[in-house]
Amino acid sequence: METLIQQLISEGYLKTSSIIEAFKYVDRKDFLPEEMKKHAYLNQALPIGYRQTISQPLVVAFMLELLEPKQGEKILEIGTGSGWQTALLSKLVGKEGSVTTIERIEELMRQAEKNLSTYQNENIKIIKGDGAKGYKERAPYDKIIAAATCVRVSSAWKSELKIGGYVVAPVGESIIQIEKKSAKEFKKKEYAGFRFVPLITDEKPRK
Ligand code: SAH
Repeated sequence: METLIQQLISEGYLKTSSIIEAFKYVDRKDFLPEEMKKHAYLNQALPIGYRQTISQPLVVAFMLELLEPKQGEKILEIGTGSGWQTALLSKLVGKEGSVTTIERIEELMRQAEKNLSTYQNENIKIIKGDGAKGYKERAPYDKIIAAATCVRVSSAWKSELKIGGYVVAPVGESIIQIEKKSAKEFKKKEYAGFRFVPLITDEKPRK
């Protein structure tokens, strides 16, 4: 992991010391099926079953740097997958913060629960459901991050975000960061050239 982390630092993907510390603390190997563990430190997305993947380290680093998670924050994560990024977020927000993570595939959710059990995880709540609809029960959130690509950013995410907070999500083959300036005003930045598994939802797109 150390070599991979140094590579991500030298390529400019990892910058913030708390995020670098979290990458060192959470072993990606703990989030992979047995047969994939030997590839844990490659800078690649890897299969975790159910046609899903653990995210590429470069992408997780890039998205976390845009999200700027801080101690004490309340975070909503859409697409738990293996739980790797969930563990990173949990470490970054600490005991005073919380991570609510939504996964639509029951088996992956159970697997993530198991993977996360060896980490400090009292601040994590895993929910089975469609994250495109947000999660009102624990809103508002300081930050919202999605791991599966959507056609447009869910309006539920925008409304469940605190003013001053960010949504970081893949849209098509870009990663976008949206900052909530006021109840109705959002500032968007777009970074092109990434690939993700699709967000699967029955939510109708709203304008
Ligand atoms: N960061 C995770 C990435 C998992 S891939 C990791 O590193 O392991 C994205 C995940 O999003 C998949 O597990 C997929 O099942 C889930 N997903 C797709 N659409 C979803 C939706 N609408 N709600 C919740 N989860 C969803």
